[in-house]
Amino acid sequence: MGLNRRSFLLGSGLTAAGLVGSWLGEADRAEAAPLKVNTAIQADETPRSCQPQDPLAALLEGNERFAAAWQSNNTATTMAARAEAMSSLWTKGCYLPGDTLTTGQAPWASILSCADSRVSPEWIFDAAPADLFVIRSAGNTAFDNAIASLEFGVATLHTPLIMVMGHSDCGAVKAARHSAPLTPLLEQLVKPIRASLSPGNTLATAIKRNAGFAAKQLTQRSRVLADAEVDGRLTIVVSYFDILSGKVSLV
Ligand SMILES: [Zn+2]
Repeated sequence: MGLNRRSFLLGSGLTAAGLVGSWLGEADRAEAAPLKVNTAIQADETPRSCQPQDPLAALLEGNERFAAAWQSNNTATTMAARAEAMSSLWTKGCYLPGDTLTTGQAPWASILSCADSRVSPEWIFDAAPADLFVIRSAGNTAFDNAIASLEFGVATLHTPLIMVMGHSDCGAVKAARHSAPLTPLLEQLVKPIRASLSPGNTLATAIKRNAGFAAKQLTQRSRVLADAEVDGRLTIVVSYFDILSGKVSLV
């Protein structure tokens, strides 16, 4: 995405001290200087995405289109019929020429989702190129670089919505619920998922709790995101994607 540290600092209007402050703990954050975001960064009026008036409604409407196609796919009996069912996607007709996108982006929603191959946000939300700013890892956890990426999305790209999305049959949450030995790095990955679990939770409940836990981490660990939410520049929501129905529901 052509990001380097200098352009991020200049483009977002953030100070180095402010960025350091964004990584401070909860107790230290009250001491940090307030951050200012340069909202003039997109003074150039060339549209770089199909900006909806209501990003959350647009996501859910896109998912309705996907779910309808997906359910037709599920009842089709041949490969050709399934292909026909899915061909109804990407029909909303809101696309930009590539040369417009060579000089910038203006995604209208950020998605923190699982790396699972069945959970592609662009597909699930029937979104066009440049619509979504997507961060994925197994278990959709709020790991450091995910939070940093979301900070870039909010501070520099002015993305007004973050959705943290869990999904049915999540392998990372299943791994966190069991004590089978994992590699050291995988142990590190499931650690925050285990922190979100409670005894007796069903898998679906555990997946939803994990997504909620990750969403809370975003504002607890990032002053950029916390301030944006308080200022009304950012909305953070939690959702659950059901693989069978294709439906995304808010949690
Ligand atoms: Zn998963």
